[in-house]
Amino acid sequence: FQSKLPHVGTTIFTEMSVLANQHNAINLSQGFPEFDTPDFLKSAINQAITDGKNQYAHSTGMPELLEEVGLLIKRQYEFELDPQKTVTITSGATEALWVAIQTIIRQGDEVIVFDPAYDSYEPSVELAGGKCVHIPLHAPDYRVDWEQVKSVINSNTRAIIINSPHNPTGSLLRENDMQILQQLVLDNELFLISDEVYEFITFDGERHESVLRYPDLFERAFVVSSFGKTFHCTGWKLGYCTAPEALSAEFRKIHQYVTFCSFTPAQIGIASMLQNHTEHVSELSSFYQQKRDFLINSLADSRFKLLDSKGTYFLLVDYSDISDLNDREFCHWLTKEIGVAAIPLSPFYQNPEQDKVIRLCFAKSEKTLLEAAEKLCQL
Ligand code: PMP
Ligand code: GLN
Repeated sequence: FQSKLPHVGTTIFTEMSVLANQHNAINLSQGFPEFDTPDFLKSAINQAITDGKNQYAHSTGMPELLEEVGLLIKRQYEFELDPQKTVTITSGATEALWVAIQTIIRQGDEVIVFDPAYDSYEPSVELAGGKCVHIPLHAPDYRVDWEQVKSVINSNTRAIIINSPHNPTGSLLRENDMQILQQLVLDNELFLISDEVYEFITFDGERHESVLRYPDLFERAFVVSSFGKTFHCTGWKLGYCTAPEALSAEFRKIHQYVTFCSFTPAQIGIASMLQNHTEHVSELSSFYQQKRDFLINSLADSRFKLLDSKGTYFLLVDYSDISDLNDREFCHWLTKEIGVAAIPLSPFYQNPEQDKVIRLCFAKSEKTLLEAAEKLCQL
C-alpha cells in the first residue's frame, strides 16, 4: 500500500496529550480550555435537543446562526456582508481549512505557508495535489520577511496561508503587514486563506487585523474562524468560513460532500449565545490576558526566558539555560520527570530552528497554572 501521506505520523498534539495522561502530568500541551463552556450555551443546546432540533441542518449552516455571524462581523470589523451567501458553517476550522484548500488548489500549485505552521495545512495542500513553500519565522518576534515572500512567488504560486493571532508563537500580523500582503495577493492574483481562529484573543490593547477589515483583500480570501476557541468548546468542532459570494459558492459545493452539515443543536445554541451574550466575545481578550499575566508572574523566578505573547492562549518559553536536549526530547523529559507537558516547535517547521523554545497553553485555571509554574520554577 502506497501511503498518500508518507511523511505524516500522529500529530504532536495527540503524542503529547497521550504522554501527559500516561504520566499524570499537568497538560499544558494540546491547546484546549480546562474550564467549561458557558451555562447559557449549554442550556440553549439542551433546549434545542429537547425541542427536537435533531435532524440535518441546512448544508450551509442554520440561517439564524449565519445571521448572528453576520452581525458579529459587523460589530467586530465594521464590515457588512450577506452572511446567507458568504458564511458557511463547518465542522471546526479544520474542515473549513480543508475545504478552502480543496476549493482552490490544483495539481502542481504552490502554497506559501509560514513556519512554524499549524499542522493541518501541509497535508491538506498535498492531498489537493499542491505543494507547500515554507517561509520560516524566527524567534524572538517571528515577523514575516515580505521580501522573502516576494522572492518565492512564481507562476505556480496559487495561494498564501496566514494565521494571526499565530499558533504557536502568539505573534500578530500588523496593519503594515496586511497592506503589503494585500498588494502581493492582488498584484499576483493569488488567493488567501486566513486562519483567524484566535481572532478574539489579543492582548495589551492590540487590534486583530482581520482580513475582513480589508475589503479588497477579502475579494480573494477565505477567512476561517472557530467557535471552539471563542466559546470554550473545542470538542464540538464547530467553525465557519467567510468568503465572497462566488468563492463561497465553490466552497459550498465541496463542503456538502465532506460533511454536508454540522451538529444542528450546537448551531442553534451558539446563535442564541451570540444574540444574548455579546459581552462574551468582547470580554475574551481580557479574560485570557489575565491568565497570560498570571502565568508570566508565576514563572518570574524560573530559569525560563519568556517570549512575548500578543494573542492566542499560548506562551513560548526558552529553556536554553536549563537543558541541552532538543525541543521534542525536552518536552518528553518535562512530561515524564517534572510532570508538565508542553509542545515542541520543531514539528511545525520544514527545517527546524535550533532554538530551545517550547509552547505552554494557559487556557487553564489559576490553580493549574500555579501548580505547573511551581514545578517549572524548580528547574
Ligand atoms: N488553526 C489553528 C491555528 C488552530 O490552533 C486550530 C485548533 N487548535 C485550528 C485551526 C483548528 O480548529 P478547530 O478545532 O475548530 O478545527
Ligand atoms: N489546535 C490545538 C493546538 O494547537 C490542537 C488541535 C488538535 O489537537 N488537533 O494545540
